[in-house]
Amino acid sequence: MPGKNISRAAALSPQEIILRDELRTDVQKLGGEIGERNMIRYSQLQAAAGFIEGSFASAGLQPRRDTYEVDGRPCHNIEVEVRGQRPEMVLVGAHYDSVFGGPGANDNGSGIAAVLGLARRFSGKSLERTLRFVAFVNEEPPFFQTSQMGSFVYASRCKARGDKISAMISLETIGCFSDAPRSQTYPSAGLGMFYPRVGNFIGFVGNLRSRGLLRRAMAIFRQQEKLPSEGAALPGFITGVSWSDQWSFWQNGYRAIMVTDTAPFRYRHYHLPTDTPDKLDYDRFALVVSGMENVIAALASRVD
Ligand SMILES: [Zn+2]
Repeated sequence: MPGKNISRAAALSPQEIILRDELRTDVQKLGGEIGERNMIRYSQLQAAAGFIEGSFASAGLQPRRDTYEVDGRPCHNIEVEVRGQRPEMVLVGAHYDSVFGGPGANDNGSGIAAVLGLARRFSGKSLERTLRFVAFVNEEPPFFQTSQMGSFVYASRCKARGDKISAMISLETIGCFSDAPRSQTYPSAGLGMFYPRVGNFIGFVGNLRSRGLLRRAMAIFRQQEKLPSEGAALPGFITGVSWSDQWSFWQNGYRAIMVTDTAPFRYRHYHLPTDTPDKLDYDRFALVVSGMENVIAALASRVD
């Protein structure tokens, strides 16, 4: 779904400036202060979990740990709920671990900062559908797309309980933007023929079954008109399409989409020690999150 291309992001509203400063503070905490957080840096992984729980609690929400073990050590997905009038839910998630050897400011401190900012904004709201915000552990290798991936454990438990998740949104590496020519690449030359070569947009990616959700989310996002967006519903086997927690929900029969700056196809510091908080474009990152606030509000108020 190629869209119109605006060369630079529009100015932020006062609310978006507040959001931007929250995002910057939370990315600094995760990607700067805590830094690398994974099963090798286990105490930092627990520090990140504690920070996320504390942030949810400060927003007036009650965090719950969804725990499983890897090699005898507990790992926690962390969830909160804003109960709606109906049990059908919209689930918004991001992973909080970082790759071995990297502080993961953009991947995926940005996704977690967005989840926290959105949770603050929806806390206490009355909605038709239930909203759930989840921070997933162990997305990165060697757990990636295995039964020990945090979101896979989580989504499998949702399915076993019969949770009615009508939409899952995976926020994956959403803070890098560039106006430079050829700053955007693609997993295949074919895609590069149809989509922009300038990395100034936010991407929406779904599998074929999630095409309806993808189109609806993008239509709502584009009403904001401050940040270009591009999207595609593609077979899950195409490189990059299944590269985050939405994969786990697809495996369990749910509709799910990923929102991403396209990570390795744009971000030079992807999975490197240089993925630090100073590399993010916080103005445009804030526009992604404020646009997603509209998307989530609309999905959660939908009656069908
Ligand atoms: Zn990631």
